Amino acid sequence: MSFPNPLKSSAQYIKGVGPKRIQLLNKLNIQTVEDLLYYFPRRHEDRSRLLSINKLQADQPYTIKGEILTFGIFKTKTKRMLVFEMAVGDKTGVIYCVWFNQPFLRKFFKVGQKIIIYGKVQKKGAKLQIINPEYEILPGEDEEGESIHTGRIVPIYPLTQDIRQKNIRLIAKSGLEGFLQYIKDPLPRYLKNKLKLIDLTPAIGNYHFPKTLITLENAKRRLIFDEFFYLQIALALRRSKLKFKTKGIIHKIDGALLNRFITSLPFELTNSQKKVIAHIKTDMAAARPMYRLLQGEVGSGKTVVACSGLVIAVQGGYQAAVMAPTEILAEQHYRTFTELLTPLGIKVVFISSSLSSHARLKVQNEIKSGTANLIIGTHSLIQKDVKFKNLGLAIVDEQHRFGVAQRQTLTNKGLNPDVLVMTATPIPRTLALTAYGDLDISIIDELPPGRGTLQTVWVEEDKRAEIYELIKDQVKKGRQVFVIYPLVEESLRQDLKDATKMHGKFQKEIFPDLKVGLVHGRLSADKKQQAMKGFRTGEIDILVSTIVVEVGIDMPNATCIVIEHADRFGLAQLHQLRGRIARSKHASYCVLIADAITEAAEKRLKTMVTTQNGFKIAQADLEIRGPGDFFGTRQHGIPELKIGNLSLDVKILEQAKQEAFGLVKSDLGLSKQEHRFIKSEILKKYATMGPFGI
Ligand code: ADP
Ligand code: MG
Repeated sequence: MSFPNPLKSSAQYIKGVGPKRIQLLNKLNIQTVEDLLYYFPRRHEDRSRLLSINKLQADQPYTIKGEILTFGIFKTKTKRMLVFEMAVGDKTGVIYCVWFNQPFLRKFFKVGQKIIIYGKVQKKGAKLQIINPEYEILPGEDEEGESIHTGRIVPIYPLTQDIRQKNIRLIAKSGLEGFLQYIKDPLPRYLKNKLKLIDLTPAIGNYHFPKTLITLENAKRRLIFDEFFYLQIALALRRSKLKFKTKGIIHKIDGALLNRFITSLPFELTNSQKKVIAHIKTDMAAARPMYRLLQGEVGSGKTVVACSGLVIAVQGGYQAAVMAPTEILAEQHYRTFTELLTPLGIKVVFISSSLSSHARLKVQNEIKSGTANLIIGTHSLIQKDVKFKNLGLAIVDEQHRFGVAQRQTLTNKGLNPDVLVMTATPIPRTLALTAYGDLDISIIDELPPGRGTLQTVWVEEDKRAEIYELIKDQVKKGRQVFVIYPLVEESLRQDLKDATKMHGKFQKEIFPDLKVGLVHGRLSADKKQQAMKGFRTGEIDILVSTIVVEVGIDMPNATCIVIEHADRFGLAQLHQLRGRIARSKHASYCVLIADAITEAAEKRLKTMVTTQNGFKIAQADLEIRGPGDFFGTRQHGIPELKIGNLSLDVKILEQAKQEAFGLVKSDLGLSKQEHRFIKSEILKKYATMGPFGI
């Protein structure tokens, strides 16, 4: 028999929440009591230190306790606003509270009431005043009650406009009083003792309304631990299911085809490439599926490494697939892989949504019958109607655009195929632990030799003429140039130069002797292809483009990239874009054009100018943007962190990871009695990340 869980009841059951307030709560995405208890403050303000009025200094925020001496309403002469002014005094002096156009306030106060006020103190002539203070009327001596708005450490909630801090604080307080007792703590006692974590119930209570900074700190540590821990448990389960419980394909790694492929390369592999190919061989030969992340800077030579895996799969009679996030990138992969692998007798096919239904049907048949050995495509690959004969290796060129779920869909197309996820954007360690915590990690940490220098500059509009000279000079030397814009068409309200318009201007006015091409997301696939081809063959000197070229495009002869409105791009994007150049022995130039900008944009541009180290850039990016935005989307199946911070809480994260992986190792199915609540927590919140085998 099961009882209804009070935490799951509507937040309307909280004392003080009526039909009107429930609507406001719903706007904050709070439906149930539990939602409210987990609606945590964004930060806290220490208003606990009371100062006497004669100690106050101008322009500082203070909490003051006093008595209401008098109040009244008057009109300002010039602005005809109604001013409600109230004098509050203590033994040492008087301070004035001022509100504009809120005459109704007079109904709330009585002379003689004790009150706590909080706000920034200003000097007005000889008078001290606070405009719009927060306040709390203290109960009379015979009433009980605890101050919640002032005179203590006060929670500040993330709010929308139509709800006030005061209201949500009252509701939170009331919710805690009514329902905190129903919280069940899934963490076993032994773990809490070991890690010196407090119980969940006081953690939630104290995080809303801490008595001291120490109780706040302890509450915070416990809640952050929880945020990391269950996710790490889910990752650990996923991983151990794959590693210990799943039968994979034992690939033949010593076939002749692989050797032929390696010896056919016109260059010597770098040590990093050799190392990672060795990882892949070991994994593919094993009886468990490979589940590996390959990280490597743009231009570090991931393609050849990926090819080695593809060749291994195909030489053993299996099919292999490569999924890319954009059409352009998929096409480039198709070309590259065709060039490298057709000479070995491998049949490479391409599938994307731009195929005609006739062509698509043909490809689908080739995939199903097995005549196609290697299938390159966009997410079209994972659509229902695509059926493989025997998929043995799935490579996902991820670039942060796919998520766990999509990787899983591709994997499901075969019988536990080996999986290699590739990403060119270096991921800070903490983020890798969360986003890719279920994968083994290989890193290519050197570039092939013989690359020319790369110089990055940030200039303002007034240097435009010089930039044009640089472009002309590069083209004269036989090189090619990218010019990147953030938008496709000029929007009415922002005076951004857009790609289409500037393309015309470049061709007609600025570079009439050169050939200028255009590519952007709204062109037809045909036109896009045409432009890319023109650039690849050298017919086009300058390619004007929106960020469609961001990922993976390999044009070794391009030595200059000019990024217009560089302040509009994220750091990862800028780094990716810069990765389009410096792929040959020639010197390269990255020019960032941006005028008046925000502080965050300035940080991004300065980072670009000072370093080319992808991991440093990624770390800076994480700090500037926060993890949610780092990936650009939330589709990674990673729940949003409410309190934890991937830049700041590294230690707790590592602890959570270690404990979670240790726990799963000792109890693969989470079947021990003391882990049963952890299990239900996982099934409740992380089901989409499965299979878990629990
Ligand atoms: P990534 O996919 O990591 O961005 P690519 O695989 O496209 O990098 O490689 C970038 C360029 O470097 C390609 O033109 C490739 O042929 C070349 N390359 C790869 N490995 C080596 C190597 N070991 N030595 C010299 N050039 C290499
Ligand atoms: Mg294997």
